Amino acid sequence: MADVKMGEAETFAFQAEINQLLSLIINTFYSNKEIFLRELISNASDALDKIRFESLTDKSKLDAQPELFIRLVPDKTKNTLSIIDSGVGMTKADLVNNLGTIARSGTKEFMEALQAGADVSMIGQFGVGFYSAYLVAERVVVTTKHNDDEQYVWESQAGGSFTVTRDVNGEQLGRGTKITLFLKEDQLEYLEERKIKDLVKKHSEFISYPIYLWTEKTTEKEISDDEDDEPKKEEEGDIEEVDEEKESKSKKKKIKEVSHEWQLINKQKPIWLRKPEEITKEEYAAFYKSLTNDWEDHLAVKHFSVEGQLEFKAILFVPKRAPFDLFDTRKKMNNIKLYVRRVFIMDNCEELIPEYLGFIKGVVDSDDLPLNISREMLQQNKILKVIRKNLVKKCIEMFSEIAENKEDYQKFYDAFSKNLKLGIHEDSQNRAKLADLLRYHSTKSGDEMTSLKDYVTRMKEGQKDIYYITGESKKAVENSPFLEKLKKRGYEVLFMVDAIDEYAVGQLKEYDGKKLVSATKEGLKLDDETEEEKKKKEEKKKSFENLCKTIKDILGDRVEKVVVSDRIVDSPCCLVTGEYGWTANMERIMKAQALRDSSMSSYMSSKKTMEINPDNGIMEELRKRAEADKNDKSVKDLVLLLFETALLTSGFSLEDPNTFAARIHRMLKLGLSIDEDEAAGDDTDMPALEEDGAEESKMEEVD
Ligand code: ADP
Repeated sequence: MADVKMGEAETFAFQAEINQLLSLIINTFYSNKEIFLRELISNASDALDKIRFESLTDKSKLDAQPELFIRLVPDKTKNTLSIIDSGVGMTKADLVNNLGTIARSGTKEFMEALQAGADVSMIGQFGVGFYSAYLVAERVVVTTKHNDDEQYVWESQAGGSFTVTRDVNGEQLGRGTKITLFLKEDQLEYLEERKIKDLVKKHSEFISYPIYLWTEKTTEKEISDDEDDEPKKEEEGDIEEVDEEKESKSKKKKIKEVSHEWQLINKQKPIWLRKPEEITKEEYAAFYKSLTNDWEDHLAVKHFSVEGQLEFKAILFVPKRAPFDLFDTRKKMNNIKLYVRRVFIMDNCEELIPEYLGFIKGVVDSDDLPLNISREMLQQNKILKVIRKNLVKKCIEMFSEIAENKEDYQKFYDAFSKNLKLGIHEDSQNRAKLADLLRYHSTKSGDEMTSLKDYVTRMKEGQKDIYYITGESKKAVENSPFLEKLKKRGYEVLFMVDAIDEYAVGQLKEYDGKKLVSATKEGLKLDDETEEEKKKKEEKKKSFENLCKTIKDILGDRVEKVVVSDRIVDSPCCLVTGEYGWTANMERIMKAQALRDSSMSSYMSSKKTMEINPDNGIMEELRKRAEADKNDKSVKDLVLLLFETALLTSGFSLEDPNTFAARIHRMLKLGLSIDEDEAAGDDTDMPALEEDGAEESKMEEVD
C-alpha cells in the first residue's frame, strides 16, 4: 500500500457482497432497527475482552488507558450517538479489512436468510453486526486507536466506498474505538436517555463491563445576584463529571442549571455467581441472548457449580436451532467463554469441550486456574481436563432432561442429532449414555421415532440382536427386500438414514448388551426355526446350488459369491455386503466425498454377495431353464437384469444406467409384441431377450 501523508483521506471500495448487504440494510424496511445498539455494544465488549486478555500477560498493554469501559454519548445538537470503548482498537489494516474489504463467510448467508424472510436481528449470528449501524445512521464515523498503530478514522455513507484517514487533530482516545452514528431524520428517538437505557436493559444487561450513559440533568434554581458569581463546586472522579452552564448577569431570578454526568446503566454482577433458584427464566433468557446474539430464547439451560478439590461455576445453554455454519470445518466451533475468578480469559477454548458439543453455549468460571494462563498452557492443564469431563457429563444430563418433553426433544433432535452421532463416533467414554439419546424411525415406530431403549422392550422372545438398515432415506429403506424376512418374523428394524449413522453405528456395535446387526450385510442369521423347517430349507438350497454357480459364472467379478438367501421373502434376489466392509449406503456416501483418498475404496468398497430367493417364481423358472440348457441366452440376459435391479433395490448405484435402460426397453418391446427389426435404431447391439411370444406370460411375472 502506498505511503499516505498525514491526514490525507484514502478511499476504498466496499467488497461486492458487503456492498449488497449495505444496500439491503439501508433500502429494506425493518421494524427491528433497535438491535444496532446491541450489536455495537457487543463488538465493544469483544474488543474489551481482547485487551483484557492481552493484559494478563503484559500489563503495559493497558498503559494508554487503564480503565475498561463502554460509554454512550447522545448529542442532540448534532443528532449523533457515539459508542465508545476502551477495548483493543483497530490498526489501520484492521479497519480496512474488518470494516469493508474482506467479507465474512456469513455475509452471503445472512443476505440469503434475509431474503428468505429472516429477521434483521439475526445479523450478529452471521458475524456482520457492525453494518447494522446503517439501520439507523446515514453516516458512520469510526475513530480507533490500537496499541500498535496511530489513531485512524474510518468514514462512510455506504454508497459503495469508505475512507480511512490518519487522525492527527481529533480528540485522542488513548486506546479503543469510538463509533459515531449520524442518525437518520426519523431515527432521533435513539438520542433519548430513556430509550437508550431501555435498550441496554433489554439487550445488553449482562455485558461484563460498565456501560455509562452521558446524561443531562436540568434543574431550576433561584439565585440572588451575589450568589451568581460564586464558582460552582464540581464533583470529581472518573465517573461523575459535572459540566455546568452559567446564566450570568441575571438578577435574583430562576435559572436553569444543566449538568452532565456518566450514569452507570448496567448491573455487572455475573449471573453465574447467583443462586439458580433465585434466577428467573427471563433472566436466563436475557443472559443467553447477550452471550450469543441469538434472537430467540434458549431451549435448555444447566446452571451448576462443582465444589471440592476443584471449584468452578458454569451455565450451559442449548440453543433452539443449529447455527448456519454448524459443520463448517474451516471454523472450529466453540462457544464456551472461560473466566478465571470473574475475569474473562477467552472464548474458543478448545480444551474446554469436545467438538461434537461445539453447539453448546455458556460460561465457565474457574477458581483454580491461574489468571495469566496462556493457550499453550491450557493444552496440558489437568484442571481443565477435569472441567471438561464435568461439562460433558452435565451436557448429557441436560439432553436427557430435554428428552422428558417430547416436543422440545424433537426440536433438539432435529437440530443436533448429527452432533450426538458424532459424539458416539468420537467419545468412547460417553458412548453408552449418548446411545440412550438416539431416536430412529423403524418398521414399527410409525410416524414417531423410537429410542433404542424402547426398541429393546419391544424385542420378541428369542430375538437376540437389534436390527437396523442404513440407506438414503426412510422411503428408500422401508420397503427394502432386506427387511422381508425380518418383518415376517415380527422383528423390528431401525431405519438409519443419516449419512453419519454409518459412522456412529460402526462404533456403537451394541446397546444394552445386544448386538446391532445390519440387515444388509452378510451374516444375518435368523435361527428360530423348527428342525423340519431347517431340513426343508437345506433341501431347497441344494436344488439351487447349480443355479447359484451359473449366476456366478454369468456375473463374474461383479459379485463375490452367489448364495441362497435367508432374509428375503418376496423379492427374487438382493445384494448384501461383507460384515466388515462398507454397506451400499456407505459406498454412496464415500463416492459423494469427491476429494477423499481413493485407495481406501478399493478394499473397503463393498464386496457384494448375491442372495437369491428360492421361493420366488422368477428364480424357480430360471433354475428350470438353466438346468435344461446351460447356455440359454435368455438366462444370461435375465440374470444381468436381475443383478442390475438388485443393485438399485439394495441401495447401490448403477455403473452403466444406459445398458440397464436398454435391457428394460427390450423387455418393454417384448411385452408390447414389437418386432425388434421394426423398431431398429436403438439398442441394436443388445442380445434379444426372448425369441417368441410364448414367453409373454413370464414377462408379467417380471413386472
Ligand atoms: P463480528 O463482531 O461478529 O466479528 P462485525 O461486523 O460486527 O462482526 O465486526 C467486524 C470486525 O470489526 C470485528 O470482528 C472486529 O475485529 C472489528 N470491530 C468491530 N467493532 C470493533 C470495536 N468496537 N473495537 C475493535 N474492533 C472492532
